[in-house]
Amino acid sequence: MKKVTAISLFVVSFSVLVVLFLTLDFFSETETGTNGAMKSGSIHAEVPDPNVPESEPEEITTTASLMAVGDILIHDYVYNQAAIGNGKYDFTPMFRLVKPYLESADLTMANQETMIGGTEIGVSTYPSFNSPFEVGTTLKESGVDLVTIANNHTLDRGEKAIMNALDHWDEIDMAYTGAYRSEVDRADIRLIERNDIHFSFLSYTYGTNGIPVPESKPYLVNLIDIDLIKSEIDEAKRLSDVVVLSLHFGNEYERMPNEQQKLLASEAAEAGADIIIGHHPHVLQPAEWIENTDGSRTFVVYSLGNFLSGQRRDYKDIGGIVQIKAKKVVKGDEVTVSLEEPAFIPTWVDRQYTIQPMFQLADQQQVYSEIKQHMSQWIPDMQFIEN
Ligand SMILES: [Zn+2]
Repeated sequence: MKKVTAISLFVVSFSVLVVLFLTLDFFSETETGTNGAMKSGSIHAEVPDPNVPESEPEEITTTASLMAVGDILIHDYVYNQAAIGNGKYDFTPMFRLVKPYLESADLTMANQETMIGGTEIGVSTYPSFNSPFEVGTTLKESGVDLVTIANNHTLDRGEKAIMNALDHWDEIDMAYTGAYRSEVDRADIRLIERNDIHFSFLSYTYGTNGIPVPESKPYLVNLIDIDLIKSEIDEAKRLSDVVVLSLHFGNEYERMPNEQQKLLASEAAEAGADIIIGHHPHVLQPAEWIENTDGSRTFVVYSLGNFLSGQRRDYKDIGGIVQIKAKKVVKGDEVTVSLEEPAFIPTWVDRQYTIQPMFQLADQQQVYSEIKQHMSQWIPDMQFIEN
């Protein structure tokens, strides 16, 4: 009897020990798994093996897509179509078919050519534009994150229209660049981060339709000046991974870039601009890669045409959405940023001023294929989004 008790005691004690050991082991494994700080197995081998070389730093890759659209020029045809009475406007039907695309990118920018000074100072059309606030609100609701506002129409209705516009952009939390409240505002380079990739945005125009920029207020609109652009690219480069430069330039209604556009783009590229978005000609001009002497390459679209305007025929009612992806690879202290997969969605503005993706238009397939050929003539592998 005594012997049996002794054996039982031994079995019980052993079982308790085993359970205790397993439980402890379970908790230590769980802890390792939860905090994630320790690599698996490290709990069992805390002393590093001198024969195993130190592991390479982990490579972390992130990507972010950027979309851009061209000129938004709110002629009277457009705001009259959007009028809903009592001085109110609704532009949302005009953007409803492109909204899913604009929202699909990590970051979307638009060139708001006409100032949204609001009804307080009276809306107006060409040649001296002023647009309703609702244009901005609709852009915001359609997925646009930043507007470029250095254009030849920026000074059309003077400082008041600009300040009203900036107030509205601030109110709806829309980033803007190219026209500013003050020198302090101008010096603050706009930065937006997506997936750990930092983008900076600069915007300049060739001129302001003969209206002089007030000498004491040069911040009201950024004019193209290659030395200024170079120094601001330099600054933007220090603050970001990808410098996006918006240039309002070129000859109106010309479907190919002129020599000055080519020269300015190549100088800005060499100075460090990674993406150059052009507009003003009212028609599409092709995209290309610029190879820089440091081995990097810059993506440029010379003109994105009119995205929304009252202009018709001769390609003036055709614009588009360009997309480019930024890829960032971080390995220890090494950071490499590259651009890839340029893509385009040609768009057309119908008689109700609805912006329509052209691939959806059965009766316009001939001009659609011509536009695809036109935009990709220097980048044959450019993709066209068709779903
Ligand atoms: Zn223009």
